[in-house]
Amino acid sequence: MSGYDYDLFTIGAGSGGVRASRMAAGMGARVAVAEERYMGGTCVNAGCIPKKLLAYAGHYGEDFEDAVGFGWQRPVQSFDWPTLIANKDKEILRLNGIYERLLANAGVTVMRARAHVVDAHTVECDGKRITAQHILVATGGWPFVPEIPGKELAITSNEAFHLPTLPKSAIVVGGGYIAVEFASIFNGLGVETTLSYRGDCLLKVFDEDLGVFLATEMTKKGVRIALRSHIDRIERRGDRLACAFSDGNIVETDVVMYATGRAPHTQGLGLENAGVHMAANGSIPVDEHFQTNVPSIYAVGDVIHRVQLTPVALAEGMVVADRLFGAGKRSVDYRNVATAVFSNPNVATVGLSEAQARREYAEVEIYKTNFTALKHRLSERDEGTLMKIVVDKATDRVLGVHMVGAEAGEIMQGFAVALNCGATKRQFDATIGIHPTAAEEFVTMREPVKS
Ligand code: NDP
Repeated sequence: MSGYDYDLFTIGAGSGGVRASRMAAGMGARVAVAEERYMGGTCVNAGCIPKKLLAYAGHYGEDFEDAVGFGWQRPVQSFDWPTLIANKDKEILRLNGIYERLLANAGVTVMRARAHVVDAHTVECDGKRITAQHILVATGGWPFVPEIPGKELAITSNEAFHLPTLPKSAIVVGGGYIAVEFASIFNGLGVETTLSYRGDCLLKVFDEDLGVFLATEMTKKGVRIALRSHIDRIERRGDRLACAFSDGNIVETDVVMYATGRAPHTQGLGLENAGVHMAANGSIPVDEHFQTNVPSIYAVGDVIHRVQLTPVALAEGMVVADRLFGAGKRSVDYRNVATAVFSNPNVATVGLSEAQARREYAEVEIYKTNFTALKHRLSERDEGTLMKIVVDKATDRVLGVHMVGAEAGEIMQGFAVALNCGATKRQFDATIGIHPTAAEEFVTMREPVKS
């Protein structure tokens, strides 16, 4: 036991901070966590969980329509946004309580205040100076909005979760996870929705086929997708907003939402007092043990700006706890991290895109299929499903699995296990499918597409 007040002081009770703290306390460490905002961080309060709840809500409109082909009389016609927001908030409150209890039951001291670093072993929190053998920075990220005139009139996902009323129209800016998810949510709830993206292909970091296919599907569902599109300024016009686009168009809308990335939350943390290096984008560089250049200070999660995903932050937090107070055997393998985007339709992916694979491997085989799911034979919904497998021809190893379609996230989890086990295409082929599902297509694609 150290001569400090605590063995570990964690700043930030989000996914990574809570997991590291609980695990460290479970290993006998004396741990405190400081949290100035909300228990559970972005994921619980302004990210994954509320977003998924809103995505379910957005899907119901279609589900009611689809039911008609199955004999149901069109059941529900009206939607009440305040009910959704109140029920979502109730669920978040429940989760906040669970996080608080998990920490308390693990013996972690929770301080509901902002903390900042005074030196390599000292933080100041709630007017008190507290010493710790190790400090873990897990302060996450915050939405970034580019500097344009009128940016203060725009909202981000933070505010979107608390809009007092559902707008009639919205412009969502960006082409990444949050942009396509919120464009789908708004559109699904009946908002006239435009997605304005500066690039050529949505979800640029994924296999290109996914972004192209998703744009087609979202367009069919009613989202207006403007590619190579830039907003120069935003002005208030009565109770509406006018967006001046760089092509000269001026479009009026009720809400402009920026989803243009999230910046590491490091300002005002006092890291410079301890001499912690920070990158130009404000993130904290760390080594494979998540140790900063100051040996007593560690950082995990969105604040290190590697892979901004909750399960990754959890894994990183566990590495830190294990290294400081356990066997020190854990590490994070960033290959084959599966991920899903809860747009409508969903997108999910694991492993390498076709372009990445072609850069890294001499010869690559691509298997691809595109079909209408059985359900939509009766619903008559014009919605496609895309599936794609990327294979290293020399070894037959499956390098990437990609999908756009219903429940893609649920389907991809199992394929992530297969890829982590080094599965080959032959093993995919030898696997007997579950019929009738969409997922069985992943084990029945026999012929590679011509390159
Ligand atoms: P992303 O990095 O996914 O996307 C940001 C988008 O904003 C990109 O399309 C980018 O364009 C565009 N952009 C960036 N800067 C500008 C600018 N100055 N002007 C115009 N456009 C700009 O960020 P998100 O905010 O969507 O999400 C943040 C992170 O949170 C994600 O990367 C993801 O890791 C995580 N997340 C995960 C979710 C999930 O697991 N389902 C859901 C939501 C978020 P370009 O492509 O040209 O760079």
